[in-house]
Amino acid sequence: MSASDFQEIPKIFYSYQTQKPFCDCLVCNCYLLDDQTYVIEKAYKKHPGYTAQDVIFDYAICLACALKMRQEFSTDSLAKINAYLSEHVIMNPLPHQKGPIDIDQCLAQCAVKKTPIREITSYQIYGHFHGNRLIKSISPYLISQSAIEEIIPLISNDTQDVLNDFYNRHLNPDPEMLLPKQPSDQLIFI
Ligand SMILES: [Zn+2]
Repeated sequence: MSASDFQEIPKIFYSYQTQKPFCDCLVCNCYLLDDQTYVIEKAYKKHPGYTAQDVIFDYAICLACALKMRQEFSTDSLAKINAYLSEHVIMNPLPHQKGPIDIDQCLAQCAVKKTPIREITSYQIYGHFHGNRLIKSISPYLISQSAIEEIIPLISNDTQDVLNDFYNRHLNPDPEMLLPKQPSDQLIFI
């Protein structure tokens, strides 16, 4: 890959806690900003009538840890999630662009439901990064809560346990934030 395949990390993917790029993998603590490939996931909740929104949780996970995590998913769950996504999500690979991609445009609607963000109250965003750069060929995307609610029932109990365990072990949302009743209602690797 060349320099034009990357762009600066958008501020929306900064750590809520530090207001800076994530430095470490949530699971193995490896340093991310030199030469690691990693994924950032952030969950947001809006309050009707207000422009402010809460970050429910956010983290970065290195590719090795994310793959290890997926290996713990049951094959049945993975097959169902993949079937759902290939039915509902048309991932148009972006034409190669010299300039930076428009992050606001990438995150303007649910990748599954196509609902515009102004009509969504809870959602998660995902981005793929390498070192201190965003990987442009995998554009960031947004998944609304209503799409997640359709995906959760596809997941086996064992896989939900894996997700709940991950959430309980690694994510400590601010106690003032609204905790999801079921961690795996929120947490999903896709
Ligand atoms: Zn890791």
